[in-house]
Amino acid sequence: MKRHNFSAGPCVLPGSVLQQASEAIINFDNGLSLLEISHRSKPFVDVMEKARALALELLGLEGKGYKALFLQGGASTQFLMVALNMLEKRAGYLNTGTWSDKAIKEAKIYDDIYEVASSKDANYNYIPKGYDIPSDYDYFHCTSNNTIFGTQMKEFPNSPIPMVCDMSSDIFSRELDFSKFDLIYAGAQKNMGPAGTTLVVVKEDILGKVSRKIPSMMDYKVHISKGSMFNTPPVFAVYTSMLTLDWLKNLGGISAIEKENNKKAQLIYSEIDLNPLFKGFSSKSDRSTMNATFTLTNEDLKETFETMVKDAGINGLNGHRSVGGYRASMYNALTLESVGTLVDVMSELERKA
Ligand SMILES: *Cc1c(COP(=O)(O)O)cnc(C)c1O
Repeated sequence: MKRHNFSAGPCVLPGSVLQQASEAIINFDNGLSLLEISHRSKPFVDVMEKARALALELLGLEGKGYKALFLQGGASTQFLMVALNMLEKRAGYLNTGTWSDKAIKEAKIYDDIYEVASSKDANYNYIPKGYDIPSDYDYFHCTSNNTIFGTQMKEFPNSPIPMVCDMSSDIFSRELDFSKFDLIYAGAQKNMGPAGTTLVVVKEDILGKVSRKIPSMMDYKVHISKGSMFNTPPVFAVYTSMLTLDWLKNLGGISAIEKENNKKAQLIYSEIDLNPLFKGFSSKSDRSTMNATFTLTNEDLKETFETMVKDAGINGLNGHRSVGGYRASMYNALTLESVGTLVDVMSELERKA
């Protein structure tokens, strides 16, 4: 039976990408596996260069002073790496959920952090608006999509200071003016590839402004100078990410996938709004196109609904423990057909109940 994978991360990848990635494990270059060749060999250096170039090309950031890196340690390592490389006195953070909160906690180890606004008062079910960003701070940090709560920033401030954004769960999903950001980071496993690498896109001229000594592995400038090969890169994660970026380019890039993502979001949210058995979690104007969070209005139907979900081949629908209920993650590789299957189950429940 066809599986419909709504997992929040690691998550669904295009079938053609999984096929090519698995073939490369057996034979990547003249009978050698991708996993057993030198990362310094020409075939792999070409993979790394292509992945870096595709990331900048898809974001529309070629020739604009940005560099793309594929680093390790997940988005979580970026929480401290950003602070180490950019925090001199004080930085402003927008607190929109668990991941922002963790980013704040790590940066606080080094210096002073000011929360420009927070939606913690309502269990992060909305995005704060109308806050000020002090112009004498080192940088402003925000999280574009809150994977756990299902909220998404629809607008970004015109920041007077460098703007850093954790785009782990919605990068490459919608068109934005990416040149508004000075540093973007994203763990691969939400919308780009397998776990094990994190994309960092950084405007080179914002670096080198702090007085502290930065350990080499934590220093963006070191990674840039070594072409993202300062140490052995996670070859499989980078290769598979490259395949996904290529898949996206062939589909027509971000503008094409955004149309699909909007259709999927519209389909699920209209069911959540029209079906009296379900209730959305996040504030309507801030709803994420990537992660739709919702609960049942009648908990007595839990078992019936979950059995129906399972029987339909739907995987990964459980909400995060801090929100409860359900979360339908609809990343780029999830098809409209899969969302249709979930919506059919939801309306079938209404007919039965
Ligand atoms: C998943 C996620 C993270 C954490 O990523 P890791 O790669 O596991 O460290 C950080 N930020 C956001 C927005 C996420 O969705």
